[in-house]
Amino acid sequence: MPSSACKICKGPLKPLITGLFDDRFGYPGRFDVLRCEDCGFGQTAPELGPDRLARIYTEYYPRKETRASSVASTARYRGSALQRLWAFVVGTRINGHFHATAGQRVLDIGCAAGTSLLELKAIGAEAYGTEFDENVRPIVRELGLKVHFGDLKSVDFPDGHFDAITMSQVLEHVADPIDFLRFAMTKLKPNGSLFMSFPNLDSWNEKRTGRRWINWHVPYHLNFFTDRSVRRLAEKTKFEAVTVTTVTPTLWQYLQWIANGEVFSEGQAHPMWNPEQGKSSVSKAKKILFRLGALAFTPILRLIDILGKGDSFLVEFKKPLGPSPT
Ligand SMILES: [Zn+2]
Repeated sequence: MPSSACKICKGPLKPLITGLFDDRFGYPGRFDVLRCEDCGFGQTAPELGPDRLARIYTEYYPRKETRASSVASTARYRGSALQRLWAFVVGTRINGHFHATAGQRVLDIGCAAGTSLLELKAIGAEAYGTEFDENVRPIVRELGLKVHFGDLKSVDFPDGHFDAITMSQVLEHVADPIDFLRFAMTKLKPNGSLFMSFPNLDSWNEKRTGRRWINWHVPYHLNFFTDRSVRRLAEKTKFEAVTVTTVTPTLWQYLQWIANGEVFSEGQAHPMWNPEQGKSSVSKAKKILFRLGALAFTPILRLIDILGKGDSFLVEFKKPLGPSPT
């Protein structure tokens, strides 16, 4: 796919970083990220076509949850005051579905094996999901979850069906974010909310770690947003950007520190992300130390978040009241 102009604002592109490779799952090849000179948005080049993209998820992406019982045991969130406070402290509030409320009908796009849907039910919401990975089909069936496999456009949800749509770390994987959000809007009720999280290209960690930033994650990540490009995205899709905040999950900081000391090779899956590939070079003692260190560092992370330099965006977009914009 030629990438001569910014996907979000059609502005001119300039190389930001070149020669990145898949340092997690070993997909071969080198990739660049081009940056828009107008809105700051970054896009991966070359971008794999839709067929190739669909294939790399099933062939290269490992599935952590392989049994229904393990998925059920990870679903702990039910929206209590204490859990909301903890989600703020450690930054897990980047989970879009944490922002749903009881009685809402909610669609989680990219729901994986269904932890989010179990948690939505625990919150008291009516939960629906979409997912690409066919490997999780038996799991969601066993859990009795309403999951549609494939593209959102292939599901015949009625228009205006949902009070909220959530997308946690999904938009950065979508080839055409504007087209995608325009379609998602048709499925929302007027005044319905879209809660999304995705990496922040202007984050403190990106600036400090360069090529080692864990959120490059090429070629799976195609889009890298900045504050300005998020607001352009809202304008282009006729959503109202209610809140645009940044959050660095404490776990991500831990993973970044681990990644800073690892050696990655092109074409090779790395044990840090794939335990079956052998032992990580980081000792158990060091891991515990990094875990505690990240927790101790959390107040600094929240300060970085407030300054807009957190590693992930957490945004709420609202569909305007009144007739659907076209
Ligand atoms: Zn742009």
